[in-house]
Amino acid sequence: MPGTVLNQEEEKKLIMHAYRKLLKSIKAKMDNTDRNNIRMAYEIAVEAHSKQRRKSGEPYILHPIEVARICAEEIGLGPTAIVAALLHDVVEDTEVTLKEIHDRFGGRIALIVDGLTKLDGLYNVASPQAENFKKVLKTLLEDVRVVLIKMADRLHNMRTLGAMPRHKQLKIAAETTFIYAPLAHRLGLYSFKTEFQDLAMKITEPEMYGEIARKLQETKAERTRYINEFLKPLNDALKEIGFPYRTTGRPKSIYSIANKIKTKNVPFEEIYDLFAVRIIVDVPLKKEKQICWQIYSIVTDVHKPIAERLKDWITTPKANGYESLHTTVIGPEGRYVEVQIRSERMDEIAEKGFAAHWKYKGINDQPDVFDSWFDSVREILENPDSDTVEFLNDFKTNLFAEEVYVYTPKGDLKILPKGATALDFAFSIHSDLGYHCTAIKVNKKLVPFGYQLQNGDQVSITTGNGQKPTENWLKMVVTGKARSKIRSAMKEERRKQGEIGKESLQRKLRNMKVDFENNVDILVKYFGLTNRPDLYFEIAMERIALSDLKNYFEVDNGRLVEITHKEHEKKPAPEGDGLSKIKKDLVKPRLLINGESADKYEYSLANCCKPVMGDDVFAFLTISSGAKIHRTSCPNATNLMANYGYRVMKAEWVSSGDTSFVIDLKITGIDKGPGVIERLTHSISTDLGLNIRSFYIDGREGYFEGKISLLVLNKNQLNVAIKGLKNLPEVSTVVRIED
Ligand code: MN
Repeated sequence: MPGTVLNQEEEKKLIMHAYRKLLKSIKAKMDNTDRNNIRMAYEIAVEAHSKQRRKSGEPYILHPIEVARICAEEIGLGPTAIVAALLHDVVEDTEVTLKEIHDRFGGRIALIVDGLTKLDGLYNVASPQAENFKKVLKTLLEDVRVVLIKMADRLHNMRTLGAMPRHKQLKIAAETTFIYAPLAHRLGLYSFKTEFQDLAMKITEPEMYGEIARKLQETKAERTRYINEFLKPLNDALKEIGFPYRTTGRPKSIYSIANKIKTKNVPFEEIYDLFAVRIIVDVPLKKEKQICWQIYSIVTDVHKPIAERLKDWITTPKANGYESLHTTVIGPEGRYVEVQIRSERMDEIAEKGFAAHWKYKGINDQPDVFDSWFDSVREILENPDSDTVEFLNDFKTNLFAEEVYVYTPKGDLKILPKGATALDFAFSIHSDLGYHCTAIKVNKKLVPFGYQLQNGDQVSITTGNGQKPTENWLKMVVTGKARSKIRSAMKEERRKQGEIGKESLQRKLRNMKVDFENNVDILVKYFGLTNRPDLYFEIAMERIALSDLKNYFEVDNGRLVEITHKEHEKKPAPEGDGLSKIKKDLVKPRLLINGESADKYEYSLANCCKPVMGDDVFAFLTISSGAKIHRTSCPNATNLMANYGYRVMKAEWVSSGDTSFVIDLKITGIDKGPGVIERLTHSISTDLGLNIRSFYIDGREGYFEGKISLLVLNKNQLNVAIKGLKNLPEVSTVVRIED
């Protein structure tokens, strides 16, 4: 292993030094038990990791010690978290068991260590990022400290990533950008978020990063001079306020400067707001607001403000807890300068977010922003119907989006994610208000349910008892809460309908002298369904006609026995909704078999090649499941035609209608970093106007492979889809899956 060569004595010294540094960094109050626990955790970790080294060659134990120090010093966490941080890698990497930790430190610390161990295993499995998200968020709800310690762990790994091979660096950087930076943002850990973004950029775009870092360094003296010049005329008036204050002029992060250069297309030299001037005043809670506005007045007496740039996050904090008063003024030399005015308490919350917020919890009368955020996380996670793609959507719109501020008719403030609709608002107040919503007024005018809320809107809801959600409503909401409520209402509706179907089936089977319990699953299977409720629902919708049951089953001793004569000898099914097999979600196309309407046959589209309208197809008569339609290019076709020629029948499409088909495509391409799934989804659904049924993507080392199921109308549209997909910059190959 390469790296610095130290002898044992020197290494011991190094470890002791790191440990002492950790102890010094602890700000929380501790009693003797806390101190003993930390000491014990340290000793266990030293012993357990004694044979391990980091990629850099240094003793492994330095990592957990440093993670604990970050928790203590940079997040301000207390002894419980420090103990858990010291132990965070022992269960996964060493002989120490969770039970030992439980016995020595108790349940809470064991729970946190367990959560951390599970999060660690996360990236080794080939599961989509959305699944990983779910795991992180579940842990978050169990004990926030798990995620905070994980952030410290990730931060230390990112700071020391240099020793890793390049492809691992890229992978870790991508995960950090995808999960940890947004999560840090949402938890208000501002300094973590910016450092995550900067460190990730250092890996993904080393040249741009290096250039901006160098230029920031070069212009540092000039910035300091300018900030002093800006503050000089303010100092006397600020002193007169009578509260201690400090000022800073920290530059923006390298990542955000780079972003500006890219989006605004301007060179570094032309970015005027490289830094913001911050005035932080140490003032009692009660006087915070008053003093901040007084400072605002002092600043704008000297430097002319730009009216529309005033942002009052004190009266209405951001959803991540951020409080501050922002204004942009015209400073010396006519340059625009952003000024941020806040108290020490607000500053701590701005830097440490949730961790600091915890400390001040309950001391002011603001609604608890994190509590309501945790509630929405909970709602999304608890929605059992949400599949991965939906989850990712819910997640993006609800957890990381900016917010929109609207009012109830009584003037109560409601915070919703940006993009939320009038119907979302109804569900956010109360599910019943959502379910029975018949009309919505915004600022006294009627709006459509899907109206996108704007800041300051006053929204009122009219309800009616007869009203209930429909499938269509799902298109008019974006919040996880509304989506999950609508989905479960519809599921309930389906269940109610199914009750009717179940009753008719019970009656029918009683008449046939067939035992219900023992035979219902035979029917489920026969009709190609997966569960009983689906069968009941299909019966209730009259898509399965019970009167035809006797054509397909004989009754033998109270049991249904499938009649096994050859399919093509079977009498054609009666007109209308006959007893044809139901292929879930697949509307049958217009097809001719041997020149006759295929509806006369009991047919279904073969799963192996999934034909769509326009494909060259043939029908193959199976022994027990009717005619199967295969593509002539189906890999099974040659075999079928060669060996069972007599069972092959001619089949052809007649005209295109409104029917659609599910087709599966395999796509591969270059993973240009985070967000590939969103970009693809967007291109497919918005640019190509296609309907995605499911989407799974798996990326590794700059390369991704995925499977998309699309709904297409016909062969033509399929070809357009394949062509469109191939033209996307990140896609290299698109192949129809033949199974
Ligand atoms: Mn670790």
